[in-house]
Amino acid sequence: MNDDRKKIEELVEKLNYYSFEYYNKDNSVVSDYEYDMLMQELKALERKYPQYIMPDSPTQRVGSIIMDKFPPVTHKVKMQSLQDVFDLEDVRSFVNKINEEYDVDYVVETKIDGLSVALEYENGIFVRGATRGNGIVGEDVTNNLKTIKTIPLKLPENITITVRGEVFISKENFKKLNEEKDVYEGMGNSIWEKEFGITSDQATKVFANARNAASGSLRQVNSKITAKRNLDIYIFNIQECKDREFKTHYEGLMYLKTLGFNVNPGLYKCDNVDDIIDKINLIGEQRGDLSYEMDGAVVKVNDLKIREELGETSKVPKWAVAYKYPPEAMQTKLKDIITQVGRTGVITPMAILETIRLAGSNISKATLHNFDYIKQKDIRIGDTVVVQKAGDIIPEVIESVKEKRDGTQIEVQVPTVCPVCGSQAIHDEDEVAIRCVGIECPAQQLRSIVHFASKECMDIEGFGPSLVEQLIKEKLISNIADIYYLEFNDIVDLDRLGVKSANNLLKSIIKSKENSLDRLINAFGIRHIGKNTAKLLAQNFDTLEQLQNAGLFELASINEIGEKTAFSIIDFFANPQTIDLIDKLKKAGVNMTSKRSETLDDKFYGMTFVITGTLSKPRNDFISIIQSHGGKVSTTVSKNTTYLLAGEEAGSKLSKAKQFGVSILNEEQFNDLLK
Ligand code: NAD
Repeated sequence: MNDDRKKIEELVEKLNYYSFEYYNKDNSVVSDYEYDMLMQELKALERKYPQYIMPDSPTQRVGSIIMDKFPPVTHKVKMQSLQDVFDLEDVRSFVNKINEEYDVDYVVETKIDGLSVALEYENGIFVRGATRGNGIVGEDVTNNLKTIKTIPLKLPENITITVRGEVFISKENFKKLNEEKDVYEGMGNSIWEKEFGITSDQATKVFANARNAASGSLRQVNSKITAKRNLDIYIFNIQECKDREFKTHYEGLMYLKTLGFNVNPGLYKCDNVDDIIDKINLIGEQRGDLSYEMDGAVVKVNDLKIREELGETSKVPKWAVAYKYPPEAMQTKLKDIITQVGRTGVITPMAILETIRLAGSNISKATLHNFDYIKQKDIRIGDTVVVQKAGDIIPEVIESVKEKRDGTQIEVQVPTVCPVCGSQAIHDEDEVAIRCVGIECPAQQLRSIVHFASKECMDIEGFGPSLVEQLIKEKLISNIADIYYLEFNDIVDLDRLGVKSANNLLKSIIKSKENSLDRLINAFGIRHIGKNTAKLLAQNFDTLEQLQNAGLFELASINEIGEKTAFSIIDFFANPQTIDLIDKLKKAGVNMTSKRSETLDDKFYGMTFVITGTLSKPRNDFISIIQSHGGKVSTTVSKNTTYLLAGEEAGSKLSKAKQFGVSILNEEQFNDLLK
């Protein structure tokens, strides 16, 4: 395949994944800036090779697919996105082109970084509110929107109108939300479950930025959670109003103010291109001081009739353009580099900086990602460095200013031992991370015990982070096996426990000893082994002992287990600390054999499935069904794939399956196969 075509396919797959995480899970895998730059690259390639534009390309649609968490709402007026540009010259071209034909004025507005909603009022009453969704159909979030105090529920006039605005969380409330997280976590799952029907993890999810926090908070199934987040809204458009006519956008917005709407305050009328550029620069300078996050300035034609004449593309209006500001960056001194150890033992470097004020906050620490990054960029202690904040809460060091070196700078040494426990720190050739191998490293202890007890692993109810923290502090446990040696008297006096909860906890610990082998394997937290690989291993080995004794060849011969995973398994079981742990777990009576009865029949024996697209149930449910009938699930389509189970919005895997002549099933056909 031609290299550019391959690149297009890669970009589509990557961007669709980022988009799905962003729009549907309120998760930013990459910064907005990085996303936008990849999108620019894709657009340029698609312009060059229109014949390669893929039907599922993110350039061809607005937003993402609609999930079934909320009832769908078909928008009265399409909710479009905006044409974005990254260069002020492109703003000039946009304005000059329109000015060639029309004599118009413009409005320049701040582009609030939140999520777009439409609010419908019938006879002055707020009747419905929906997210943008894919622009045509959105999600009905009326009840959650009603928790936003600045949305009027009744208007002073008996008018039928639909307005559009951006729901956001202020910088201050976003900060509070992240600070409160720890307090909430301490409340434990039971309270959240009883009060809101969700786990404390769901309630206290940390969002990377204010936009994701606003979106995640508005799209909660339980309005009580939304209410706690103190969201706000700025209205920026009249979508439809049959009872009144407006000549200009500005006039419409002023009218909305009289109705009590919280109209976007960052608003400037301009009548020439230089003024527009000045206002964009002004908004940019104010960015850090605003009480809300914004990511650009929108330039809009003011006259509504001319807007109609200018029209729209399938995705964006032709009468507006969004200028996106470059990520904010500043120079400062790198005073030191400290290291932190995460749950999986990864040792990450963190820059200690001379404090600077960047994007509205004081910055004294920034991420350096990993030691390879430091080496590649030749960043040294004592250097003047450029620090950037790209909308996300964690700033990063992007480069060092070599010209400012005076010879006192010190090269960074890659750690060879863990800074916390002193165990060996290794650098895998195929991985950038440096990792502590000490299984009892205190920095890893907490996270690995919490992982062991979590729902997906040994499912020990009540064994959450705050309890584990107390148990470690009281020196009652130091590793996963110690859990099974806890006694009633050890735990009854711990904070918030008492007799009843202590008894329940012990019952749940005892119950977990009967868990299936795959749960135990997953619970060990072996690198590269997640829930599905653990299942695969439990299907291939009858006992943990057999898995412990398996050699490289035996492991790697299992379809789906690559060499990297095989080495990771071997390393884990060869560690003397692991051997001790397993011994202790065995003595405590923890099940270490495969319960093959979990396999219902061998209807799918010898078959390999690949799953893609959106299905009616989570993907893991289908994996379980396939495995329980003796089948295998792979993540990549090849000529060895028996079936591709394809849901809605299936992308490149579908094209690949067609290419290889693999049989394609929709969900109904899959269910028929099971009958
Ligand atoms: P957009 O956010 O760039 O612009 C359109 C949106 O701007 C509208 O939906 C509207 O709600 C909003 N807006 C705010 N203030 C406005 C105003 N005053 N007037 C008009 N509209 C205003 O486009 P999009 O299609 O919503 O999202 C694409 C962007 O989302 C990308 O450019 C990227 O920055 C981000 N994104 C990031 C990731 C990631 O992984 N980080 C993934 C997907 C998308």
